[in-house]
Amino acid sequence: MQRQEDNKYREAADRSNQWHQNYLQEMRKCRFDTIAVHGVYSMQEALDFNQGSIIEPVYMSTSQTYRDSDEMEAALSYQIPTWCYSRIANPSMYYLEGVLALLEGYGSKEETSCIATASGMAAIQTAVDPFLLPNPKDPSGPINFVAPPQVYGGTFQQFAVRKEKERNITWRQVANSFDISEWENNIDQNTRFLYGEMPSNPGQAFFDLKKVIELAHKHGIPMIVDSTVATPALMRPLALGADIVVQSVSKTLSTSGFGIAGAVISRKNLTTNVDNPEMKADFAMYAKTLPNRDNGPNISPMNAILALNDIRTLRMRVDMQSRSTTAVANYLSTHKHIEQVDYLGLESHPLHKLASEYLWLVDAEHDELYGQPVNRYGHLMSFRIKEGPQAARAVFDAFNRIYRATDLGRIKSVATIPAISTHSQQGEEGRKLADVPANLIRLCVGAEHPDDIIADIDRALAVLDGNKVHFTAPEFSAGGASSATLRNK
Ligand SMILES: *Cc1c(COP(=O)(O)O)cnc(C)c1O
Repeated sequence: MQRQEDNKYREAADRSNQWHQNYLQEMRKCRFDTIAVHGVYSMQEALDFNQGSIIEPVYMSTSQTYRDSDEMEAALSYQIPTWCYSRIANPSMYYLEGVLALLEGYGSKEETSCIATASGMAAIQTAVDPFLLPNPKDPSGPINFVAPPQVYGGTFQQFAVRKEKERNITWRQVANSFDISEWENNIDQNTRFLYGEMPSNPGQAFFDLKKVIELAHKHGIPMIVDSTVATPALMRPLALGADIVVQSVSKTLSTSGFGIAGAVISRKNLTTNVDNPEMKADFAMYAKTLPNRDNGPNISPMNAILALNDIRTLRMRVDMQSRSTTAVANYLSTHKHIEQVDYLGLESHPLHKLASEYLWLVDAEHDELYGQPVNRYGHLMSFRIKEGPQAARAVFDAFNRIYRATDLGRIKSVATIPAISTHSQQGEEGRKLADVPANLIRLCVGAEHPDDIIADIDRALAVLDGNKVHFTAPEFSAGGASSATLRNK
């Protein structure tokens, strides 16, 4: 039974919705940096709701109270904007979702929406699972999806084990992702989506995204892109026609490295052969209000604000770190102990030309420093040691500035050997498919001065000439000890 009061709340909600929509329209007219800095948080909201706080507040609260049962009823039937309970939504979460939706939609007329998740892996699950339901006409019939094997190690496991082994959903692998006919030959009426990571981590695989999107839409299925390595500062797949973007927000987006986070950003009215009008109309909102409400993989308010705070400086960081990475790649490419450098920014890279069609520093043409479009290629690269896996480990062990960690996107340089870390679970065969040999070191260049990073690598490579490394650290207990602990001894 609906009472008079119900309308009062809906009318107020309509007014505030209208105000917010107008505000978003205004923000969409701003440049990338302005959107990254301000996002969806307005002066109006600061003054009316948040004691004038110029920085978005962290709403550390499980839930929201309502004025009366009418408001509660209208809210819980999604008739008025509400956040209700932090498993489903939370204002701090929304600040992150709002800015990512705007940034991934930047430069496109498309309206976009976003759902933030607890991790990049949860984002991938959120993005793909709604398409992987059984066929209602043939519930035990086969279903499949098409994606290259050059994907992040965690994604490889989620696809190969959680989908294929556990749920009998076929992952049709595209060995050469730049070969469009190979994508096409794998598609049939049971294919639910095409998926690709570009540039891929760590192999820097790259494909002609516009052609693959066209192919997906020709077959009535969505194109899902993991755009973690590029970030919206370099590439915005939704503007190119892709249906869904996933981000491991843990990486370059939240460079400080305080926590793990992920996001799914979708266009309105996407292409799909799954009969679900709500999902088609607004995928991210659908995932938020239904499957993720029930599965509960969403982000915490604290992590959302920590990520948000780093996103403000995204464009300038990606520019600077891309330039530093180019310097490091150039240095390595002529070094006698290096067999191969994989960085899309190097002209010698076989995919350099293709990548240059896609990876542009956003707004460079409006930047007084450049005044024209410029290519940037991100801060992830890898290199292979000529003398093999043992030598690669010796060099890796000799880094003194570059952290040995299975991480990337950090403000500090980090390196890993994928074959013994991120890509260890998929076995020799899987690593061969993903082109991740055991002599490959993945390096993500931070915001230090590149000369100092080059010096660290140079000194580490010298161990292969028999030079000793002087490890300066005091004695450590296994697992490491803080400097404070050591001082107190
Ligand atoms: C790290 C990473 C993921 C997974 O993200 P988490 O936040 O670690 O769960 C997915 N894709 C790519 C390309 C990544 O680098």
